[in-house]
Amino acid sequence: MMIHNFSAGPCVLPKEVILKASEALLDFDNGLSLIEISHRSKAFVDVMEKARALALELLGLEGKGYKALFLQGGASTQFLMVALNLLEKRAGYLNTGTWADKAMKEAQIYDDVYEVGSSKASNYNYIPKGYDVPSDYDYLHVTSNNTIFGTQMKSFPKVDIPLVCDMSSDIFSRTLDFSQFDLIYAGAQKNMGPAGTTLVVVKEEVLGKVSRKIPSMMDYKVHISKNSMFNTPPVFAVYTSMLTLEWLKNLGGIKAIEEVNEMKARIMYSEIDLNPLFKGFTAKEDRSNMNATFTLESENLKETFETMVKEAGINGINGHRSVGGYRASMYNALSIDSVKALVEVMSELEAKA
Ligand code: PMP
Repeated sequence: MMIHNFSAGPCVLPKEVILKASEALLDFDNGLSLIEISHRSKAFVDVMEKARALALELLGLEGKGYKALFLQGGASTQFLMVALNLLEKRAGYLNTGTWADKAMKEAQIYDDVYEVGSSKASNYNYIPKGYDVPSDYDYLHVTSNNTIFGTQMKSFPKVDIPLVCDMSSDIFSRTLDFSQFDLIYAGAQKNMGPAGTTLVVVKEEVLGKVSRKIPSMMDYKVHISKNSMFNTPPVFAVYTSMLTLEWLKNLGGIKAIEEVNEMKARIMYSEIDLNPLFKGFTAKEDRSNMNATFTLESENLKETFETMVKEAGINGINGHRSVGGYRASMYNALSIDSVKALVEVMSELEAKA
């Protein structure tokens, strides 16, 4: 039976990527495994360079003063790294979800932060709009897609201070003018690869402006100066991410996957809206194309629905505990057929009820 993997992350990856990555575990370079060769070998240095170049190319940021890094410590380490490298006096944070809130709290350890807007009081079911961002702040931090709640920023504030964006759960999924951001970071485990590496894309000119001493491992400039090889990189995660970026490029890049992602989201949300048994969790205009959150109107149908879901090979749609209900995560590698399979179960439930 085909398994439809709607997991929120780590999540579905292209089958051909998993296949190639597993082959490399057995034989990557003259009979040696990817995970038993030196990270300083030419074979691996080529992988790192290709991964960094592909990231910039796909985002349309080549030759625009940006550097791509593959670091460790997850997106959560970026919460503090951003502050250590950019926060001198005060920064603004848009609080759109649990991760945005955590990013803000980490920055608070180092200096002053100001919450420019928040939807916390309504359990983050919309994206705040119309907030002011003082022009003397060091930066504004936003989260493009709120994985847990299923909201996504459709536009970004025009600010004349550095704009920092946590794109962990929607990077490489839609076309944007990525040059509006000065720093983008994303954990690999959604649209890129296995957990273990985090992509950081930073415009070099925003660095080097804080007065504090930054520990080497936390210093973007150190990682840039060492071509993302300051210490041993997570070789398997970087290699697999490179394969996914290659896969995306061969598909036609972000533009091509965006069309598929829009189609998947349309199919999913129209079922949520038209089927009287289900209700969307978020404000319609802020709905995420990556994570669709919804609830079942009647608790009595829960068991039947969940049994049907299981029988159809649908995996990973339970909502996060802070929202409840269901969450269908539709990352780049999830096929339209998987979305159709879920929608079919939802409409079968309606026919049964
Ligand atoms: N930001 C967002 C938007 C996320 O979805 C997540 C994890 N799901 C994180 C940050 C934290 O990432 P990590 O587990 O890699 O630290």
